[in-house]
Amino acid sequence: MKEDTTLPLRNSATNLVFGEGSPDAKLFFLGEGPGYWEDQKGRPFVGNAGALLNQLLYSIKLPREEVFITNVVCYRPPENRDPLPGEIQSCRKWLDRQVEAIGPKVVVTLGRYSMARYFPGETISKVHGKSRKVNGVIYFPMYHPAAALHQGGLRETIKADMLKIPELLAEAAKQEKAEAKQQPKQLGMF
Ligand code: URA
Repeated sequence: MKEDTTLPLRNSATNLVFGEGSPDAKLFFLGEGPGYWEDQKGRPFVGNAGALLNQLLYSIKLPREEVFITNVVCYRPPENRDPLPGEIQSCRKWLDRQVEAIGPKVVVTLGRYSMARYFPGETISKVHGKSRKVNGVIYFPMYHPAAALHQGGLRETIKADMLKIPELLAEAAKQEKAEAKQQPKQLGMF
């Protein structure tokens, strides 16, 4: 990614912010884009929104090291402006490769821009906290933690949505077990 000179925002940013976490993560968080601290440190969600995300993970007893966290754009938009459609599009091939490499069972989108990647045409106020399964992967849109920091009313909503995640992971684990049982039978048929 560092060598991809076609990526927009590259020249105005300090660091590339690659995803981080476990390569075996079942749970994958997709944010919007790096802010000031992420740009300084080259790591996702290490500022105020990251502190809230850490608290939310703590509420479901999931260590941050066990999940994977990345963004729809990997360089900071100047002054933290919203990422533009072309910027999101340019980063998309890299995002898709991260999802493919990790192979998560549950993908949580944080905020409108990452929601649009998997739920085009939807409105976050309508779809947050409601999961959807596509090709065996569960997608779960949530509000962005920064929105919860700015609009106090969303704090309880984001907390409540987070508490639904263990159930989704349990559902994914059950499905994985059922598939593993099915596989030897299928192999035996040949
Ligand atoms: N907000 C995001 O969407 N991503 C980050 O990495 C940090 C803040």
